[in-house]
Amino acid sequence: MPLNLLGDFFQSTFHGDPAIVAIAPGRINLIGEHTDYNDGFVFPVAIDRYVVAAVRPTQGPTRLVSLLAGEGQTFQTAEVALGTVEGWAKYPAGMAWVLTQATGKALTNLEGVVVSNLPMGSGVSSSAAIEMAFGVAWNELSALGLGNKELALLAQKCENTFVGVNCGIMDQMASAMGRPDAAMFLDTRTLNIAYPPIPGDWSIVMCDTRRPRSLSDSAYNERRAQCEEAARMFGVAALRDANVEDLETYAGQMSETSWRRARHVITENARCIEFRDALRAGDRSRVFEVMKASHVSLRDDYEVSCHELDAMAEVCWSAPGCLGARMTGAGFGGACVALISANLEREFCVQVEERYRKSVGSEGRLLVCKAVQGAHVLAGDSQRG
Ligand code: ADP
Ligand code: MG
Repeated sequence: MPLNLLGDFFQSTFHGDPAIVAIAPGRINLIGEHTDYNDGFVFPVAIDRYVVAAVRPTQGPTRLVSLLAGEGQTFQTAEVALGTVEGWAKYPAGMAWVLTQATGKALTNLEGVVVSNLPMGSGVSSSAAIEMAFGVAWNELSALGLGNKELALLAQKCENTFVGVNCGIMDQMASAMGRPDAAMFLDTRTLNIAYPPIPGDWSIVMCDTRRPRSLSDSAYNERRAQCEEAARMFGVAALRDANVEDLETYAGQMSETSWRRARHVITENARCIEFRDALRAGDRSRVFEVMKASHVSLRDDYEVSCHELDAMAEVCWSAPGCLGARMTGAGFGGACVALISANLEREFCVQVEERYRKSVGSEGRLLVCKAVQGAHVLAGDSQRG
């Protein structure tokens, strides 16, 4: 991450130095897709691709400039209300709104710049990263005393209520709570996290199809509604509480589509546990099969894949060194995740890029990622405001 660029950018925009630099990683999900809004398990990794905010308190209104997205709408942190901020500044403004509500404290206004090396809208959660970067920044500068788990819950509220995206808790928890060299086995009901280590000779590769994610809100909300219908039919609070016997019992008593949606969620939760055990045992062939089964279930039962994601998964499965691959994120575009043997990184990447180009007729993009620590303040004096 070019942090000197950040200092220069701040200097040329605001003529001085930032008080603090806040950094928040994106995430890639190894397994457990569309399970978080069903109270289920997920298995993300916070990755070494970040949103970074360099900020200082100011007497004037909050004014933020993003290298990628330009100048954001200015706002007074004390006066933010629903529907008053548009564009990308919605994310920091929404954080100011939830933080004020949660703590009752007056937040300082900020001058700040935002840089990132996290692709936007590719399914690696730049939205959660920008939320968490401003969460930890205000937490520090306005001495709010919140922990990262609380900040993650507030960031989800920001995204649900202020931004208007009905996401689960996975993205914010991953960006907040990641640890170096470990994946996160997160129970989205209890928010308990186990940190199974990623073997040192494995690499994580984000295989971006470069097809922009086009999961319309309607398709996502439709899936959520189908899951809720299935949970009602099974008589459980959430699909997390159902099992394959329920599926057999209720086959034919509900719409075939909702039944298949439920089958995805129920089997995906089971796959998360299987994946955890396989990772612990270093059982490569089981990791491969479980990740492949997840992709097939998302493709056939949940119907959130697309031609490009299927093509990417196929070329990964047959590439040298592949230990497992599947679509990751909400679907309808975005990226696949692959686990590979670290010593075959080059061969894997060359072959996947070439075969994907041949199969789809356009370029993909592969990024080798490392597991890193969650959102935190990097450096600087903490001027209290
Ligand atoms: P994803 O979280 O999968 O990357 P989203 O659509 O949820 O995709 O979030 C992307 C949005 O987050 C962008 O449209 C933008 O508003 C905001 N965002 C992310 N990174 C930045 C950045 N570096 N500068 C400004 N806004 C950003
Ligand atoms: Mg997002």
